[in-house]
Amino acid sequence: MDLTLSDRHRALQAGLRDFIARHGHRSPPVGGGGGRVRPDRRVLDWQALLIEHGLAARAVPRQYGGYGADPDVLDAAIITEAFNRAGLSPGIQGQGIRMLVPTLLEVGTEAQRRRWIGPTIRGETIWCQGYSEPESGSDLASLRTHARVEDGHFVINGQKIWTSSAHYADMMFLLCRTEPEAPKHEGISYILLSMDTPGIEVRPLPTMTGHATFNEVFFTEARVPVENVVLGRGKGWQVANVTLKHERMLLGDASKLMHRVHRLRALLERVEVDGVALIRRPQWRERFLRLQGEALAMKYHQMRLLGEAAKGEEPGLGVLIVKYVGTVLAWKLTALAVDALGDAGLPYEPHDDVGEDDEATGWYADHMYDLGLIIGGGSSNIQKNIIAERGLGMPREPRVGTS
Ligand SMILES: Cc1cc2nc3c(=O)[nH]c(=O)nc-3n(C[C@H](O)[C@H](O)[C@H](O)COP(=O)(O)OP(=O)(O)OC[C@H]3O[C@@H](n4cnc5c(N)ncnc54)[C@H](O)[C@@H]3O)c2cc1C
Repeated sequence: MDLTLSDRHRALQAGLRDFIARHGHRSPPVGGGGGRVRPDRRVLDWQALLIEHGLAARAVPRQYGGYGADPDVLDAAIITEAFNRAGLSPGIQGQGIRMLVPTLLEVGTEAQRRRWIGPTIRGETIWCQGYSEPESGSDLASLRTHARVEDGHFVINGQKIWTSSAHYADMMFLLCRTEPEAPKHEGISYILLSMDTPGIEVRPLPTMTGHATFNEVFFTEARVPVENVVLGRGKGWQVANVTLKHERMLLGDASKLMHRVHRLRALLERVEVDGVALIRRPQWRERFLRLQGEALAMKYHQMRLLGEAAKGEEPGLGVLIVKYVGTVLAWKLTALAVDALGDAGLPYEPHDDVGEDDEATGWYADHMYDLGLIIGGGSSNIQKNIIAERGLGMPREPRVGTS
């Protein structure tokens, strides 16, 4: 693994320091497991500034509204690291930007890219992901929401659940069964649809944070033009796997973990019991050091993945480790903060704004919200199954109903 930076990468770091000094004060607040609402004017302006300077949508080609730089994984890592270190918002991070845009760039039609990528990266069009159903979560390919084709439209019926952001999203990328006779993985299509389509009903589901961050979504004869299918009918499983690859990287980012380690350390230095800071007390110090060690291991693991990606190698199972270890570790860090805060977080009251401005509330909100991220995007048990079977060559568990 070569950890030295080229002159170009060092120039990018210098440019970032300059950008942060000049524009950092314009960043919207970061963090908190709060409301997760539509981006407001400040967030949209910040996003536009980031795109203009190549600090968001950097490798998205210019013809689709991006900055148009050559894709370079190290550039992306340097930018993320600098923003996390400075405590600045990295821009809009939703499922549209982080999951759908890379998917369309990889397998979308030219017309789909031109229509959707620009408004999505600017934060004007918000997307939600319609995969999970009441009876299909881990075994996603068993999904039952279905569509028939009629007069150039898919006519969709069924139900999705746990759909994050559906209560304010403009669009959904949906998995549904369009080829009922085909084997289960080959009968699914990946369809883009407007949430304004008649026949769609959204019912919010509150989580223990007090916010309704996800929803049930019901489809009754909802009609969507057939050209909104990505890659073609029956190819949805392939497209979903492209999206999933990006979702797993999104859910365990190591520089975000390191930022949380720094915030946690500051907290343990500030909170005192009998006049002694917690960080000076052996049992707290040891808990903190263990977690810091795990976070550093994740940082170097991610650097190894970056090194492999820079050489054009597929990340493979390493990505699964990022999602599994990263989400569990993020939650354990909040658990230590919650223990340190003690009674300070008990009067927890959820706010409706994006960040939770009071520190105790922010840690408590993150602690509750991050538990969900261990499950979302494929639960830890499923990640462990895949690592065991594909990585360690252990026997496959029996598959039920696989045809
Ligand atoms: C915060 C959050 C946000 C989400 N956002 C979205 C979203 O935007 N869009 C969307 O479509 N979905 C979303 N989900 C749903 C998520 O993808 C599913 O919850 C997840 O895939 C698990 O499915 P399930 O809930 O049906 O659980 P199940 O599949 O019923 O699993 C229940 C339990 O059994 C375990 N289990 C299941 N099968 C196995 C197995 N073969 N071996 C070992 N253990 C197993 C699981 O690990 C889990 O502990 C979200 C979930 C959360 C928590």
